[in-house]
Amino acid sequence: MAKKMSNPGFAPDWCVHFRSMAQHPACEAGIEYTVLNGGSEYRRMYQLPCFIKAGEKPGLRIHCDRFRAPTAEEIALHKQSAEDRKNLVATVKAGITPWRLKHQGCTHSEIVECPACRGLLHLSIKAHNGLVQGRCETGGCANWTE
Ligand SMILES: [Zn+2]
Repeated sequence: MAKKMSNPGFAPDWCVHFRSMAQHPACEAGIEYTVLNGGSEYRRMYQLPCFIKAGEKPGLRIHCDRFRAPTAEEIALHKQSAEDRKNLVATVKAGITPWRLKHQGCTHSEIVECPACRGLLHLSIKAHNGLVQGRCETGGCANWTE
């Protein structure tokens, strides 16, 4: 749920109603994947209309009344939002460099002030590989795993 931010647009190549089959029995338009796939639990992605390759016509797949491809604007928005997130995480990572250096070689968790939004940033570092995980409590702010 928290995955969707204010206006993330839509990824290219996917129906706008698609959501993870692993987590949901039906898409956001209420179409059950198993029913769509002719009652089979074995979901053949190449037949389902949810995912279409660039330039492919959804008509080549099982018909779905609710299929809607993202518009060019929605795809652009999605790209921009992915770009913004990347920049945000880069800013926060740069901001916590002193914290990372200070705790290198330790396994440590701490809540610090987020360099991007001044909210609460949960950080943890692993002794054996020095990889840092960060999760800001502010919705839509930085969230990463190295
Ligand atoms: Zn933040």
